[in-house]
Amino acid sequence: MGTESPTLSFPCTSSGTNAGTGRVVFDRYEIGRLLGRGGSAKVYLARDLQSNSHVALKLFSKSSKAPAGTAIAVREISLMRKLRHKHVLRLIEVLASRSKIYLSLELACGGELFTRVESRGRFPEETARKYFRQLISAVRYCHSRGVFHRDLKPENILLDENGDLKIADFGLGALSGGTNPDGLFHTLCGTPAYVAPEVLAKKAYDASKVDVWSCGVILFVLTAGYLPFNHPNLMTMYRKIYRSDFRFPKWISPALRSLICRMLDPNPVTRITVEGVDGITSHPWFLSGIDASEWTSEMRSHEDMFKFEDKSDDEKRALNAFDIISFSAGCDLSPIFDPTVSVRERFFMAEPAETVLKRVEDAVQGEGMRLRSSGEEESKGVLIEGQNGNFVASVEVCCASYGLSMVEVIKGDGSSEKLFWKEKLGPALNRPV
Ligand code: AMP
Repeated sequence: MGTESPTLSFPCTSSGTNAGTGRVVFDRYEIGRLLGRGGSAKVYLARDLQSNSHVALKLFSKSSKAPAGTAIAVREISLMRKLRHKHVLRLIEVLASRSKIYLSLELACGGELFTRVESRGRFPEETARKYFRQLISAVRYCHSRGVFHRDLKPENILLDENGDLKIADFGLGALSGGTNPDGLFHTLCGTPAYVAPEVLAKKAYDASKVDVWSCGVILFVLTAGYLPFNHPNLMTMYRKIYRSDFRFPKWISPALRSLICRMLDPNPVTRITVEGVDGITSHPWFLSGIDASEWTSEMRSHEDMFKFEDKSDDEKRALNAFDIISFSAGCDLSPIFDPTVSVRERFFMAEPAETVLKRVEDAVQGEGMRLRSSGEEESKGVLIEGQNGNFVASVEVCCASYGLSMVEVIKGDGSSEKLFWKEKLGPALNRPV
């Protein structure tokens, strides 16, 4: 998406003018200057008043003038929540008011990769390889989590204070499978110069191959200093893309030429994949200077660094702001995230989790039902089974804050299960039935 800001030249830890003297939102973030503007959101520098650290606050308006904003925000949130990788911008938390959704994002103070290429003309192959490896590590990870970006371009690749790359802007991204029975995508999205021919041709497409194409264009831009497919007439440009009609400048090495040609193969079936013996990560240009096992362990370290973060039990059970807004009346986004929401009921109770679960136990007393402990690591729960092992209901409780619990009930939809809810469980949990 487009941008407004030039290179971000402030240090991340700055507490000077860039830290902002402006308005405070949610008693939590002091908003500073505008960092950039995308198609549906504005991004501001902000200071977290609790930790005094800086973040990027991405602000989507939920106004009727920008109805797509909420959908894009929701998509971005649901995809980013699945990702924890050194080279993917981290979503810290989500806050919402009636009119706005705020994404608090890891701050990338090095600006856009695009600005850096523009100011230098082009990168030497060695520098381009460093960025490209980080990009492919992130893309491989996203694909392995079922997330496809679909709008990769240097403007959506930011740099942190160490000059390491961070993929940003998942507003056009998608989850694997989509809604189509063929598992392929049909949505026309992306930015023309970076978009694969099968997307322009409005054919069903494999989103992983579309990301590979965009990475090929990025690699070309980094090393050539200009776009491979460019023409003032859009139709002419599309024709060039369909035919993969581009020319290498003379300084590009033969090994790099072969990799770019394989990535910009107009046939998605024969186009190179990210992994595999014949994939990008096995290509000689990609592996130059390291062996495959070295690369594999480096790539794994980009993911592993987050796996070992240990939180206290209390922290694990506490809900984050995202969960709170998802479950809040007035800005309930949960139906968009979760299609099964209709059989669920979610509500808050001003009691600790243990008390809520004791109420469930009492309701089951004398009904000939069995209780089994359940619950993921962030919650406590019970599964209620009928006499013949049928599913009656499940109740899961998370601690939202001290003394406040968020309760989620999934109800069985048979007639005896409905009766149990109506006469026993619902009243025990103070629900209107
Ligand atoms: P987006 O809508 O995500 O494409 O963001 C628009 C612009 O805001 C980007 O092109 C960047 O210039 C800037 N921006 C977005 N996120 C961040 C971030 N986390 N840190 C610094 N700048 C950002």
